[in-house]
Amino acid sequence: MFDFKDKVVLITGGTRGIGYETALSFCKCHAKVILFGSKSSTVDEACSKLSSCGYDVDGYYPNLLDYDEVASVIETIYHKYHHLDVLINNAGLSSAKKIEDTTSSDFSKVVDINLVAMFNVIKAVTPYFKEANGGVILNTSSMVSIYGQSSGVAYPASKFAVNGLTKSLALELAPYNIRVNAVAPGIIKTDMLSNVSDEVLKPLIKSIPLGRIGLPSDIANAFLFLASDMASYITGVILSVDGAAKN
Ligand code: NAD
Repeated sequence: MFDFKDKVVLITGGTRGIGYETALSFCKCHAKVILFGSKSSTVDEACSKLSSCGYDVDGYYPNLLDYDEVASVIETIYHKYHHLDVLINNAGLSSAKKIEDTTSSDFSKVVDINLVAMFNVIKAVTPYFKEANGGVILNTSSMVSIYGQSSGVAYPASKFAVNGLTKSLALELAPYNIRVNAVAPGIIKTDMLSNVSDEVLKPLIKSIPLGRIGLPSDIANAFLFLASDMASYITGVILSVDGAAKN
């Protein structure tokens, strides 16, 4: 349904879960996909898996919290491929600790990866998107950015901020034909859920009006749509993909 031939798509946290599935989906739609991951072994593994299926992939593992390192890798990518069309900020870290067990350093760690890293990558690609007079930035938020959650406050706090960053940059970058949107997944079957006990998970799934847990492909499909020209008049939106779950 979607064709991203000749488009270069960069996905952070692309080595597993939602990010890997998104990489696979864009590959199937003929994009050149660049993965960012946290270490060489996982990046190499994900790239080998995709390239063994004949897909066009490349991977890097910059420290997302070091702006200069991120900017230098983005510059390398730009010089190698001569353009960059879509950025999907997907790397993320969850938290389930009660406030009394959360140190300020625990809090900062979650905010750093979910928000500051996102800011760094966006800041590094923006000059290239401006020069090209266009680009698409997609951020991974969460349903907890709308409803909050009853423990692990750092996580919803960071995702509320992701929505603020998305809506604000959509306004700032619209004059340059750069669209900025976010997808807010509900409960999605990935490693991130391995922290959540069955005792907590089962009633949650039961409460989802569509009656099932989400799949990484549900989120990848939303990214495909928002990255495509079919969404060319959509910016500043936080798209819930959650089966109408209310947390
Ligand atoms: P996951 O744990 O499988 O994947 C997380 C990804 O982020 C991995 O690729 C990992 O390498 C990357 N990452 C984590 N810390 C990093 C760091 N320090 N540096 C670089 N990369 C780092 O989880 P997932 O469920 O696929 O999560 C992907 C995104 O979806 C996250 O932003 C998450 O908050 C969001 N999300 C997930 C769910 C869910 O139910 N799974 C729900 C809502 C939102």
